[in-house]
Amino acid sequence: MLKPVARTAALTVSTALAGVAFTACGAPSAQDDGKLQVVAAFYPLQYAAERIAGDQADVTNLTQPGMEPHDLQLSFDQVARVSDADLVLFERHFQTAVDKAVDDNRQGPSVDAAHVVGLEHLADEPGEEENHTGHEHGEEDPHFWQDPIRLATFGDAVAKELGTIDPDHAADYSANAAKLRTDLRALDTEYADTLSGCRRDTTVVNHDAFGYLGKYGVQIRSIAGLSPDAEPTAHDLATLHKVIAEDGITTVFSETLVSPKTAEALAHELGIRTAVLDPLEGLSTAAEDNGGDYLSVMRQNLALLKKANGC
Ligand SMILES: [Zn+2]
Repeated sequence: MLKPVARTAALTVSTALAGVAFTACGAPSAQDDGKLQVVAAFYPLQYAAERIAGDQADVTNLTQPGMEPHDLQLSFDQVARVSDADLVLFERHFQTAVDKAVDDNRQGPSVDAAHVVGLEHLADEPGEEENHTGHEHGEEDPHFWQDPIRLATFGDAVAKELGTIDPDHAADYSANAAKLRTDLRALDTEYADTLSGCRRDTTVVNHDAFGYLGKYGVQIRSIAGLSPDAEPTAHDLATLHKVIAEDGITTVFSETLVSPKTAEALAHELGIRTAVLDPLEGLSTAAEDNGGDYLSVMRQNLALLKKANGC
């Protein structure tokens, strides 16, 4: 009799062979249940894809829950997925490894969020003479999903591409995109209503992931610049001290996927609070465990901003 381990191995081999034979006939492979295979580079893209594709696709996220996506490295298997998927969703200049996998290996369709949503150029920080914040002046801000309307625009592009790949369900995809837009419009209205008339509008965060909240009047000052693991210089910290004192800032925000060390040190020195704002670059494991999603985490962030800024 076979030992359990050997038995599993034998089964895996025969399944793999069956899969090859099946695919060679042009039928859907056993592995993907006949569903479209969509690869999303990070969480907000995954969220939009799942809303649009519904039951017609399996959506795989290259950035696992709890992982910080900026410095993502791809495994051999993930590069193969990028190459073989029916559709790949990514954002150029956000994750170098994904850009490379798409450029080197991808023949099929992809949607580049940077191409479809209209990214904003980063404003130079007031009084900043040189580049101390880790970003190049005039660089585009990749964190577009903080603007729900831009995420809806991305959803429309996904629906259009899925409709081309799978015309039988094109009407479903565009109906789902319309539903997603309705939800995102409601969220956008909540942000605009809640954040109008705050006592303070300057908000200090760990890394510059919240610039798109500028549309609601929120002025973001970041400790670390565009990338979450950049170290602030003494000059950056001195400038922040001044801003915090002058504007009567009550809270320094750290974030879910990186160490709160610098934010906590800064808040402690100045005798103010820290709170955790979620940049939603990935779904935190806590949010995932609580059944949270893009909409619920955005609403949590809004409640925290309201409290910190006296709205
Ligand atoms: Zn970021």
